[in-house]
Amino acid sequence: MAEILKPTEENLRLLREFLLSGEVAGLPTETVYGLGANALDPKACQKVFEIKGRPSNDPLICHLSGFSDIERYSESNPTARILAEAFWPGPLTIVLRKKPIVPDMVTSGLDSVALRSPSHPDFRSLMEGCPFPIAAPSANPFSYISPTRSDHVDANLGEKIAYILDGGPCSLGVESTIIDARDPKRPRILRYGALPVADIENALGQRIEAPVKSAADVHIAPGSLPKHYSPRIPVELRTDPISDQELRESDSQLAYLVLRKPNRVLADNIYWLSDNGNLNEIAKKLYAKLRSIDAGDYKKIVAEEAQELGLGLTINDRLRRASYR
Ligand code: AMP
Ligand code: MG
Repeated sequence: MAEILKPTEENLRLLREFLLSGEVAGLPTETVYGLGANALDPKACQKVFEIKGRPSNDPLICHLSGFSDIERYSESNPTARILAEAFWPGPLTIVLRKKPIVPDMVTSGLDSVALRSPSHPDFRSLMEGCPFPIAAPSANPFSYISPTRSDHVDANLGEKIAYILDGGPCSLGVESTIIDARDPKRPRILRYGALPVADIENALGQRIEAPVKSAADVHIAPGSLPKHYSPRIPVELRTDPISDQELRESDSQLAYLVLRKPNRVLADNIYWLSDNGNLNEIAKKLYAKLRSIDAGDYKKIVAEEAQELGLGLTINDRLRRASYR
């Protein structure tokens, strides 16, 4: 078991020193909990890969205080500036050409680096006194469901890390949106996430290409694997809403995960992600709900997809990867 620390001044000081000494800790962000390390210390970052069982060709996102730090670590451009001014601190990761100060360990040898400035108040307080960016992937074993509470981190990695900073449940609940802004004229989405693509298009005043799922893309955003965010129990996806009748007649060996609360609450194997279909609420609860279902004895999870719009694209992306076998 890890020690779960409240975000007191004393604990934040302890964590800064712990990270500075090359160690790794569980940290809260507004998207999901991260496994954080000093991004300028290759050995510390190597521990992150080892603890997660993450392949070394899947690079880490570096977390910064804000736009003023961007030029220290990357070759910025006007598109990156507009994006950072519009959405930082917040759930947008910007990929840019890296400067030599960023170790190859963090970028898996790529000449690009992924940068984000998180808004979680405790993460920001921690960063304030840190003389380095914090590299942090989600604090879960590679390919399992991401953690949105400190006890999720403890359950999965508590044997391997000494400390978890408890910042409460994550307010957004899904990972950041990743945009490749190396070419300022032709930015591309690499991963759907908590920031809807339409918001980015509005800020830039241009249409943006959606993530491509070709083999070539794996080279640009190496971690975009078809199997990810996956429970132990197999997931079957439904593109159409699951009817009340199907829920009424449901097989008790299956768990049903629907987007909104059914008209009548029927049996213990029916789970829902929101009262009335609100996508923010659905995203926020998705991983915690998948985890609680996965702790049960079901043969299969039957899950309903969202409409392919806004955050619905992100929710469906995660559900599809969760269902991949
Ligand atoms: P996460 O697993 O949420 O920590 O997100 C990390 C993902 O960000 C990786 O799997 C990549 O897809 C993407 N990423 C990180 N660094 C880079 C980079 N330098 N260039 C392109 N994509 C990156
Ligand atoms: Mg992850």
